[in-house]
Amino acid sequence: MAVARSPQPARPDDDFDELVKVALDVAGSLDPREVIARILERGIHALQADRATLSSLSDDHVIVEATHGRDGQVTWVGQRYSLDYFAGQPLVKKAIETMQPMIGGGLASEQAAPEFRQAIANVRHVAVIPLVHGGKAIGMLVLSRYEDHPFTNEDLAPLTLLGAISGLALRNARLYEEGEAARKRADETAARLRAAVEAAEDVASQVQIDQVLGRLLERALASVGADGASVARLEGTDMVLESTTSGAAVGTRWPIAPKVLAGVKTGKSVELTAAEYTGAPEGLASIVQPFRRFLVAPLAIGGETIGLLAMGRRKDEPFDPAAVQSLQQLSTLGALLLRNARLIAQAQEAERAKSEFMSIAVHELRAPLTVTGGYLAMALEGGFGELTEPLKGVLQTAQRKTEEAKALADELLTVARLEGRALKPSADRFLVTDVVQEALVRARPRAELSRGTLKADIADDIEVRADRTLVSKILDNLINNALVYSDHPPMVRVTGRRDGDQVAITVVDDGIGISSQDQGRIFGRFARGTDRRVLEKPGTGLGLYLSRGLAEQMGGSLQLASSRPGKGSTFELRLPVGVA
Ligand code: ADP
Repeated sequence: MAVARSPQPARPDDDFDELVKVALDVAGSLDPREVIARILERGIHALQADRATLSSLSDDHVIVEATHGRDGQVTWVGQRYSLDYFAGQPLVKKAIETMQPMIGGGLASEQAAPEFRQAIANVRHVAVIPLVHGGKAIGMLVLSRYEDHPFTNEDLAPLTLLGAISGLALRNARLYEEGEAARKRADETAARLRAAVEAAEDVASQVQIDQVLGRLLERALASVGADGASVARLEGTDMVLESTTSGAAVGTRWPIAPKVLAGVKTGKSVELTAAEYTGAPEGLASIVQPFRRFLVAPLAIGGETIGLLAMGRRKDEPFDPAAVQSLQQLSTLGALLLRNARLIAQAQEAERAKSEFMSIAVHELRAPLTVTGGYLAMALEGGFGELTEPLKGVLQTAQRKTEEAKALADELLTVARLEGRALKPSADRFLVTDVVQEALVRARPRAELSRGTLKADIADDIEVRADRTLVSKILDNLINNALVYSDHPPMVRVTGRRDGDQVAITVVDDGIGISSQDQGRIFGRFARGTDRRVLEKPGTGLGLYLSRGLAEQMGGSLQLASSRPGKGSTFELRLPVGVA
């Protein structure tokens, strides 16, 4: 910025106007650098100086922040000096002590720091203006003139004012900066907390134990700012690595460093330097070698430490407290998830083993039943000669019972596949009305036995996306129950309608209904109703359990929509709509 210099000192009124402008201008920004630049510019302009230099002061040191020459360039210095530096500059010393602007000849260049000597040597006149705020000098503005044009007593009033305005503006800007930094720290803490919550959700969504650990480590790395991480389970005074970010050394056993062992007992995380991390097992030292700092957090649950979460950082820098705190949160979640994942894995394994056993057993059972059924059919057709009536009756009963046993075996096999997650339904598109009509055709003989009526009320164009065989199985179950659980000739109606992205199929009967206690249990495995009229009929209590499982496997659901004892029941099957 070019500075116009008037040959005469400015008149007091002009000074005042000028200073109002200075005040507005200087106070117009909250960026400390900008405030400093404006103080320097305005100081030069208002007091026709050749150079202005601003320093901030604290109890024991001074920082030369910036200097501004008449050519309009601000040079940022940022150099820190001890306050002793002023011992050889009486003018400066006095200005700070009295908190009043001082004017005088040049500064003592031989006393100045070497880098300033040259600049100071050219100075003929100076004004030293303390920047005062709250009764303290928080900074200092030095205005210099290179020509023989002394500052006068008339300049003192505007200099004082400039000092006060600048002090205030500088202080505000600094406070603002501190406030911003505090807000940023608070934002960072909030972000870390959010990240911890997200991490919990993310980690919790993983069912496989190795995935749980992998996700936990990834999240811990990101939130703490580390370069490597591992999770280990505790075994006495050793730890066994369960998972590492590098994938190396999983399954290896390590002694726990004494400092960690002591810390773990208190449930707190422990920070270690490379020197404190001792006792890597033979041949494994290279794994920890790249790291200069470690942070180890206990994975504790119910007061018991079950594992350790260790972070390594390549840089030899301490972990900041916010990082330590976020690791603490993560490790609490980690411990919980680790234990849950273990329990789930154990339960799943037991379930899988049981389902496998059931599949094998049912297969073994079904094979002889098929053979027996075949011989019985052949015998009844006269394949082994003429049958007496009593023998025919016996063989017919045997055939019926064999068919029932085969049906039970088939149901058990489906249960085993469903529970063992071996059932992979297809997702075909087909018309609901077709699959319902087929089911009604299959149900007709049974309906006729009880003189029942079957009806369907479904639009012709509703399609579902599901496994056709499984939907048929579910419909057979529901329609069969509707026909069976009745004490008068049953009336069964099947409806279908589209409901958003689902199709709702209902099976409505006018049968015995279901008591409210039974409503809560009929979808359970092997659960049958408690009504005498139910228990008189053959049944396994698997039909609804299986039907619901199958519906859910296809992305649908099965509910008892309504039922009242003596007034009938309505079951509702929902399936994904089949859209083009
Ligand atoms: P099951 O029919 O072999 O007993 P399900 O799982 O199909 O097994 O049904 C479980 C129970 O739900 C039945 O025992 C019966 O008490 C009740 N139930 C199911 N459908 C009906 C229905 N339409 N009307 C009355 N009760 C029913």
